[in-house]
Amino acid sequence: MKSKVLLLAALSILVASSLVEASTDATKLLRQFPDPGQFEVGSREWFRATEALKYRPLVAESFTDNCPHSFDVLHYNVTLFVDIDNEIISGNTIVMAMSEIDSLVSIDLDLAVLTVDSVLSETGNPLTFAHIDSVLSIDLPQAYSSGDTFSVQVFYHGHPGNEGPDGFGGFYFAGAPKMAFQMGVGLEADPPSMGKFWIPCWDWPCDKATAEYHITVPGTGKKVVCNGVLTGTEIDTVASTATYHWVETHQIAPHLMTVHARRYKELIDSTYDWIHYWVFPPDEEDAKIHFQNVHIMMDGFIERFGPYPFSKFAYAMATKGDMEHQTCVTHVNYVVQPNHNYDWLLAHEMGHQWWGDLVSVNDWRDIWLSEGFATYCEALYQEHAYGMDAYHDYVQGQMNRVFSSGENFPIYDPVYLWGTTVYEKGACVLHMLRHVLGDSVFYQALATYRANHEYGNAVTAEFQQDVESVYGQSLDWFFNEWIYDVGWPVYEYSWHAQSLGDSFALNLVIDQVQANGPIFTMPVDVKVRLASGDSLIDVVWVDEAHEEYLFTYADEPVGIELDPDNWILNEAQEVPYAGIHGEPSELGLALGVEGTNPVLGTTHISYSIPSAQRVRIQVFDTQGRLVKTLLDEVVAAGRYGLSWDMTNIDGARFAPGVYFLRLSATSGTRTISLVYLE
Ligand SMILES: [Zn+2]
Repeated sequence: MKSKVLLLAALSILVASSLVEASTDATKLLRQFPDPGQFEVGSREWFRATEALKYRPLVAESFTDNCPHSFDVLHYNVTLFVDIDNEIISGNTIVMAMSEIDSLVSIDLDLAVLTVDSVLSETGNPLTFAHIDSVLSIDLPQAYSSGDTFSVQVFYHGHPGNEGPDGFGGFYFAGAPKMAFQMGVGLEADPPSMGKFWIPCWDWPCDKATAEYHITVPGTGKKVVCNGVLTGTEIDTVASTATYHWVETHQIAPHLMTVHARRYKELIDSTYDWIHYWVFPPDEEDAKIHFQNVHIMMDGFIERFGPYPFSKFAYAMATKGDMEHQTCVTHVNYVVQPNHNYDWLLAHEMGHQWWGDLVSVNDWRDIWLSEGFATYCEALYQEHAYGMDAYHDYVQGQMNRVFSSGENFPIYDPVYLWGTTVYEKGACVLHMLRHVLGDSVFYQALATYRANHEYGNAVTAEFQQDVESVYGQSLDWFFNEWIYDVGWPVYEYSWHAQSLGDSFALNLVIDQVQANGPIFTMPVDVKVRLASGDSLIDVVWVDEAHEEYLFTYADEPVGIELDPDNWILNEAQEVPYAGIHGEPSELGLALGVEGTNPVLGTTHISYSIPSAQRVRIQVFDTQGRLVKTLLDEVVAAGRYGLSWDMTNIDGARFAPGVYFLRLSATSGTRTISLVYLE
């Protein structure tokens, strides 16, 4: 980012309130349900606490208890016969793991619905086990110390479970001709991980492992598609079966592991031969149009997020979808049409390969790091393919869905994982963060976040840390209001221009009137239309319920627009000008900076005084030390300007950073902040 001065209207930016208990260990941020009884009935805090309690039964209380655990899975080796006609799977999965503790004598794996036949040690000896509900407890053949590796082989069979014919997650046999496929996330399940519906696993996204699959299906005409790369195929014409070997050498979370088996037509992208499409044969011609833009999406995301992180990318059609299984998106068949109506969906699932798959959530409280990011990728694809106007139109649509959603809970640890708050509002948060940081810092921050967590996991606090490390300043204020709190700003603004003889003064008043949510802190673009026909964009820092600004212009201002390019999730309306706060006369006590941005060397300060009095204008640093007095004299009522060349008492130029400008007069004080960025 180039040198840039933003105006800050108050000191509170540096002391943003913290809704989440500060913790150096990001993974220890705990869900809290405040007791509404401690708040005044009808207050905002009371309302929020009451709302949260309403949703409490839907929330998995155990989210915090599952990472870390006593062992770390290193590798899953899945060997299954998928009997599509009889809707049975049978075989075994070898779970290789490393002990994380001393004296590890038993482990618990997740496995739902299926029947366990036996469990063997790595030397082939039977192990005792208990399979109660969805927990498979296995007694290990010996006590393992921290760092020891071991494996267990679980033999099992049965008709696997799912969320029902109209549901989403689990293992399905469906369609005509019938196919088999695994969907790793459930919409009703709580927690939503559904890896356990086909393999014994530690079914939490925090424990990633490598994987290999040896999947056999009846008949010789079906294809099997899993994560990773195909390393071998065996057609047994005597037994009339086909076996496919797939290997995922990159770390993968259990809910991202998948299999698809049916008669497929395999198409290869004409631009990138490592992008494949497994389509229903009758849809082949439609698919060639439907997937036409995939390589453009891929180019756009590689340009923004860095190299594609896996060995292949694919869409495999199924009768349900979509689901961002790593390297192999399950893509619902009915959207495969000879048009581009679902490019947004293709982009969303592709975006997940970076955000959700490469960098996975640690647990489901942070789901916006997956779904909010992927939803933002839809807008980034619009920008890449069609330009900035298309991007802004797309984001506006997402904002409109937030306004009409009726949801009222924070993005972090959401009471509903699959709603507008996580998806669209999460996307809007990234859109706003991009504007606050500027493109260069924003994408550098994403690169840092990727580098620190790729093939692993992240929590929101770590994302914030990574962004701050590039930005160079705290973003508590931003994350607190947008991620850990609710709502959005509703601005009412009014303005008044007046001739000063050789220039014009513009008073701008902005009120935040939202009934729900905190008072938001945001840099807000103000577009000022001048009589000459020109327009200027000024940036004001709005962080109080009531703000007043004073600008001077050489030309007459004739119109104002707040946030003209929709960079902020906000509602705004212009209201009649009613004078500046607390001053019946037109002239109030005000302090502002004449808004050109960036300021090159010299800052032009405006101030107005309602009656003759002694006025002092001083500059302080963030430690509260006086660094320069710009004015100290008795001043008559009126509007004034003052230029300051950003030098201190010694005439040396200020270092980049935050400074406070304070006007003290008999009738009151006004303070604004300057952020002087490099
Ligand atoms: Zn998604």
